[in-house]
Amino acid sequence: MKIAVIGAGAIGANIAYRLKKRGADVVLIDKSAPGTGTSGASFSWLSSFPQLSWPEMPGRRQLRLSVNARFDRLAEELGGDWLDWSGTLTVASAVPDFDKAVALSREAGAQVEVLSPNEVSDIEPQLRLPEDERVAFELRSGWVDAPAMIEQLIRVFTLSGGELRIGSGVAAIEYRAEGVSGLVLEDGARIGADIVVNAAGGHATHIAAMAGLAMPLELVPGVMVYAGAGRPDLPQRVINGANWLLRPDRDHGTAIHWRGEGLTATHGKNGISGTDMLADVASAVPSLEGLEPSAMRVGIRAIPPGGPVIGFLPWLAGFYFAVSHGGIGWGPVWADLAAREMLDGTAATELDGLRPSRFYF
Ligand SMILES: Cc1cc2nc3c(=O)[nH]c(=O)nc-3n(C[C@H](O)[C@H](O)[C@H](O)COP(=O)(O)OP(=O)(O)OC[C@H]3O[C@@H](n4cnc5c(N)ncnc54)[C@H](O)[C@@H]3O)c2cc1C
Repeated sequence: MKIAVIGAGAIGANIAYRLKKRGADVVLIDKSAPGTGTSGASFSWLSSFPQLSWPEMPGRRQLRLSVNARFDRLAEELGGDWLDWSGTLTVASAVPDFDKAVALSREAGAQVEVLSPNEVSDIEPQLRLPEDERVAFELRSGWVDAPAMIEQLIRVFTLSGGELRIGSGVAAIEYRAEGVSGLVLEDGARIGADIVVNAAGGHATHIAAMAGLAMPLELVPGVMVYAGAGRPDLPQRVINGANWLLRPDRDHGTAIHWRGEGLTATHGKNGISGTDMLADVASAVPSLEGLEPSAMRVGIRAIPPGGPVIGFLPWLAGFYFAVSHGGIGWGPVWADLAAREMLDGTAATELDGLRPSRFYF
């Protein structure tokens, strides 16, 4: 059985790797360089707080609780330096109803401590907050260097015999009465496959349409600002502030995901410049004061309405979907479950409610 995975982002690379590791014959296809889609412009946070305080289906909650262990296993399997578990400091003003969120998250299994200002400065001396600001420290949380993870996934995948085809996008899906039979690339090449996986991120609607499914997808921009390369005095762990999320970045020093007012200087009347975003962050992280962004990027979050879309399309045998927001954290989860469904033929009941058939009327 041959499986063709479309999209070498965090989701597709994880799926291709896991399928190959389990012995399948896999080709991973991307029109561009792996990891340069949304996964290359992501904040890439791994966190259970405040997420575990959100109302969720019990199956989804169990999957969320499995994320860290799956990353530990992946890091052990792959090697390389792409995973950082140094924890997250969340300021109370970043989370509506902070005390309740702490209590609910703890009850659901998150390790969260509420710290005094002195404890905060011991853990993260670069963070300066008002005296009365409270802070939650989530110990088992961190961030992923997503391009490095994808590089490592693909390195191990190809070393184990997986085929990587990059530079030409998927132009069509071919099928016969019994189901999918393969793909046609934009350069005219044909690839035979018994299963095709749609892991094309923000382009997944286009791939779905090639098989007759009109799958809605919200494309929501998110801004990343990078600054501070070479500075020794920057925060060493994730900080979740009221208007922003900040983490270390190996190339740029610090990566900031701006969540406050305005988007970018190019965003009409609501514009805010990267310099102004950095100035806002510098009120809590003084070592950023006076820095200019070394880079900015608007990443495109592909958000399927009603949550992730994972599973086979019921009316076209062999066409599998793996499209999800939060795909850095969820990638290894979807990969394990997808491999189980494709290779063992057992439906993962944890995925009930997330099937592509919900868009079929
Ligand atoms: C600012 C921002 C912050 C975020 N923060 C987090 C976070 O903290 N934690 C988290 O888990 N998630 C976060 N996300 C979301 C996360 O980054 C995405 O869910 C994830 O990167 C999606 O991965 P993907 O593999 O589905 O898509 P992508 O990384 O976009 O990969 C899809 C790939 O498909 C390829 N492709 C498309 N069309 C074709 C075609 N026709 N033929 C061949 N190849 C094709 C593309 O070239 C691309 O490489 C954030 C996103 C943004 C923008």
